[in-house]
Amino acid sequence: MSGRWAVVVGGGVAAARRAEILLRAGAHVTVFASELSGDLALLREKFAFEHVARRPAKPAELEGVALCIVATGDAAADERARDLAKAAGALVNVADRADLCDFMLPSIIDRDPLMVAISTGGASPLLGRMLKARLETTIPAAYGRLADFVRSSRAMVNAKLATGVARRRFWEGVLDGPAAERMLAGDVSGANSALEDELGRASAQGEAAMRGEVYLVGAGPGDPDLLTFRALRLMQKADVVLFDNLVDPAIVDLARREAERIYVGKRMGDHALAQEEISDLLVRLALQGKRVLRLKGGDPFVFGRGGEEIEMLASRRIPFQVCPGVTAAIGCAAYAGIPLTHRDHAQSVVFVTAHGKNGPLDLDWSALARPGQTAAVYMGLSRIEQLMDEFVKHGADPDTPAAIIDNGTRPNQRVIAGAVRTLAELARADDLRGPTIVIVGSVVTLRDKLDWYKSAGSSLASGQTTTALEQ
Ligand code: SAH
Repeated sequence: MSGRWAVVVGGGVAAARRAEILLRAGAHVTVFASELSGDLALLREKFAFEHVARRPAKPAELEGVALCIVATGDAAADERARDLAKAAGALVNVADRADLCDFMLPSIIDRDPLMVAISTGGASPLLGRMLKARLETTIPAAYGRLADFVRSSRAMVNAKLATGVARRRFWEGVLDGPAAERMLAGDVSGANSALEDELGRASAQGEAAMRGEVYLVGAGPGDPDLLTFRALRLMQKADVVLFDNLVDPAIVDLARREAERIYVGKRMGDHALAQEEISDLLVRLALQGKRVLRLKGGDPFVFGRGGEEIEMLASRRIPFQVCPGVTAAIGCAAYAGIPLTHRDHAQSVVFVTAHGKNGPLDLDWSALARPGQTAAVYMGLSRIEQLMDEFVKHGADPDTPAAIIDNGTRPNQRVIAGAVRTLAELARADDLRGPTIVIVGSVVTLRDKLDWYKSAGSSLASGQTTTALEQ
């Protein structure tokens, strides 16, 4: 709006607040109002604007106006003013009349040149203002100064650091380090010398020293709320994200917006990239100096082949971090209401995969089928019949309770409970697609005890609906 003409129709508080936004943006403002309220009179002490002591009467008066704000406090007068402004070709905003607006005025947190705008699309301006109040207290007033400081040093930094990656790393260090601290404390010369030190260091190290890094991050079984704080922090630092189909799209969306996203697939039979290719890709990207986020479903070290990936990284001397995640057995059990251990039912719990290195169902069955133990079987759906048969062959009672949880912790979670004898048939009848986890053991019966909870209409965990439980 800088240098452009804006009109405010109305002389009250609402008009004053809007006029101030326009004046701060550098617009030429004309206020049409028979009288100026105290707020507008105060505003006149700070800014110059034109005052016309009546309402506009014909479109010609508003010819050339870019924006028109209407806030007379009188519905009929508001509509008349709006029609005139529209006829003159201006964009119009009418206070508290979303239906008459060409544009919305967001709540603004102003740390010039830093600006945060909050809009609820007209749904609840009050909610927007509440959020604004909260953010006002968490964004230091000096942030604007910090932004100016970055702007004024940019040319110097660009001259010393050639690549985009090097510059971004540098600024991350500055904004998170002593230079920013000094600036926020109002010590401009201290901030400048801290920045110069940092720049000297960064350009001396050169590009070669700027090695990339790999973050092997467990994304949990599906519900984004199950991410850890550390996972979220690493996701915000990534330059590239490698993810497969076990990771919910809602979670991939939480990675840094500018990060490149690479789908590396992996569903049985549809291997977008073989494991060796994924490991190679991780190495190649890290050697380009990138921060590579390898997002894995559940926990990276539980049936996630994370071990193989870090062996490769270690052999190539690439730095990496591993961030644990909620593994499917733990997440699914909680969201399905099945405690994995219980003093009266199970004193141990084993996590097994139905797909070993030597083919499917290569398991120590007698150790699995023990009483007093819960077994959580990953990747068991495709051979569910055989799986259940093996339990029985190795001494498990065919009536041992068992459940299958499909898409656990997600909005479409389904739980099918039965017994070792019946589970395969139940699963087939329901045409489950997976991912699914199978839980075998008497702890499955404890689910029924949660019935009172269901009938009370409550949910066991956030994100899980009663319907999902009942299914
Ligand atoms: N690293 C992952 C497991 C990868 S193996 C973890 O710690 O959870 C893939 C298997 O995990 C799937 O075949 C399925 O058995 C299980 N799984 C993953 N997400 C699941 C989910 N949301 N619901 C049910 N099972 C899931």
